[in-house]
Amino acid sequence: MNKDIKHLIEDIESEVQYTSAYIGKSKLDKRVMQTMARVPREEFVPKTMQYAAYDNGPLPIGHGQTISQPYIVALMSDLLSLKPEDRVLEIGTGSGYQTAILAELCEKVFSIERIAELSRQAEERFSKLNYKNIETRVGNGYQGWQEHAPYDGIIVTAAATHIPQPLIDQLKPGGNLVIPVAMSHFSQSLMRVKKDLDGEIETQDILNVVFVPLVNDEQDKSNSVH
Ligand code: SAH
Repeated sequence: MNKDIKHLIEDIESEVQYTSAYIGKSKLDKRVMQTMARVPREEFVPKTMQYAAYDNGPLPIGHGQTISQPYIVALMSDLLSLKPEDRVLEIGTGSGYQTAILAELCEKVFSIERIAELSRQAEERFSKLNYKNIETRVGNGYQGWQEHAPYDGIIVTAAATHIPQPLIDQLKPGGNLVIPVAMSHFSQSLMRVKKDLDGEIETQDILNVVFVPLVNDEQDKSNSVH
């Protein structure tokens, strides 16, 4: 492991310890942490930000968006409880870093991004790093991706105003949806939504977080008409 990644892993481990009262554990899943130690984050940040690629913080990636903090990427991956044979839907490809982590943890990742240029750049990174189990699409992830549903896990990496019903519908019984939900202008809560085998939904607040907003284009268009 290179020295910078080693430091990053230590920083994530200590933040997990520090937040253990909220997240209910003092260590994240071993497979998740091994994956965090393997995926080169420097490939997912702009050239001008390379020096900070292994800092445990978010970084700008252009278009007003950010690559998420590595601790949050690890935590959200852990909360999905993925098995190697699982298929996952991600909303908000962004840099593609979280997508790559998921691609190492499960069979197939479907990822939607609304900004075409970010999606294109992420695609380039996936082919450079030889990921063959990622399918991307440009569009509004609020609606999910019906064609490949249902999913064993769904992850949203932008803050929604509420839990989108299409995503609940596209989640397999027994699966987890991990999503930041805005409680007010100032506070967002990372939530885990579990669908049990009878299709019943149980939601759990995990931690206060800060994400860029999930932009629901159709909704915003209809708002501007009224
Ligand atoms: N996981 C990414 C996070 C990027 S920030 C990373 O670590 O790089 C969140 C991303 O969600 C942004 O790229 C933003 O454009 C995208 N986004 C916001 N609303 C969206 C929507 N409705 N559908 C798809 N993508 C959306």
